[in-house]
Amino acid sequence: MRVDCRQSRLDRLLEALAGRGLDALVVSHPANVRYLTGFTGSSAVVVVAHSAVSLFTDSRYDVQAEAEVAGVAGVEIVSGDLWGVGPGVGAGAGAGAVEKAVDAAPALRRVGFEAHDVSARAAAALGGHSARVEFVPTNEVVEAFRAVKDAGEVAAIGAAARVASEALDAILPIIRPGLRELDVAAALERELRVRGSEWHPFPTIAASGPRSAMPHAGTTERTIEAGDWLLLDFGAQVEGYCADVTRTFVVGRRADERQREVYEAVREAQARAISQIRAGMTGREADEKARSVIGARGFGDAFRHSLGHGLGLEVHEAPRVSRTNEDPLPDGCVVTVEPGVYLPGWGGVRIEDDVHVTAGGAELLSDGGTELIELV
Ligand code: ZN
Ligand code: ZN
Repeated sequence: MRVDCRQSRLDRLLEALAGRGLDALVVSHPANVRYLTGFTGSSAVVVVAHSAVSLFTDSRYDVQAEAEVAGVAGVEIVSGDLWGVGPGVGAGAGAGAVEKAVDAAPALRRVGFEAHDVSARAAAALGGHSARVEFVPTNEVVEAFRAVKDAGEVAAIGAAARVASEALDAILPIIRPGLRELDVAAALERELRVRGSEWHPFPTIAASGPRSAMPHAGTTERTIEAGDWLLLDFGAQVEGYCADVTRTFVVGRRADERQREVYEAVREAQARAISQIRAGMTGREADEKARSVIGARGFGDAFRHSLGHGLGLEVHEAPRVSRTNEDPLPDGCVVTVEPGVYLPGWGGVRIEDDVHVTAGGAELLSDGGTELIELV
């Protein structure tokens, strides 16, 4: 059974706020709202203060909010805009959520808000609200907590990764030349849902032939031809937690020498990074484990993105496994390891797995099935 961590998360947050001289934090980023309270709706503001934790949302969510946040937060239904701005707000439309919360708690003086989530218009409205309260922009306070996963979170990501793995295994026998990329994506997405994925955490990428050279290609009507690469980048979501996996296959023919060479470079880079990544290493150092292998094989210029990213309630979250991240990877983070080589006009290979990173090393959460598969 999952341990309910919401109260301890709120307690730790309140402690961190005190350390920053803040009396409260207005949390609006949906993944942060879910992490702290369990609310899964798309629109809510939570005011976390020592005196009370209050979740404000609109009437679409009244029943759901009461059920999901019972025991950790009070629910208040707001009419009109949560921030008290925008159309529909005016005489009789009701005060914004933050205004209500502040009015109800006369002791509040310095209140943080999530500057990375709040629109400029809403932030301006906050500033004009109260002479008593100073609103202070904060940056990714809850995100920093979310970067370190507890056992339940790791288990949920592992469960999502198993769904991804089983769904892919189910469709491999049907992939052949003559199918369109959309046909493959549709079959994969169906299997993901049937096997328990709550949603697709990002649009599935099915990129074939030369299109596989575009790291973030969409999925099109292109028909897969014999000898093509087929790159599938897809996710699954269980209890809100995401898995993110990429596999690249050769379809309809044995791989040629060039395909083998590129694939082995990416595969070796990924294996090296997974075997060497540790908590405490900077994002740049971890990225370099893979980048140096690809560089030594002569494809350094063709690996044009970061090695990986954090994974959790969002498919891209802290920490970044990137050349530009000089911060140490926190003990207990979950990240993707996804090197790639992309040769315009020819095609590309990316191999992506998900790992739980501790001081002792990396534990695979996805299946790590990276040997070259030729779908003939
Ligand atoms: Zn991916
Ligand atoms: Zn990814």
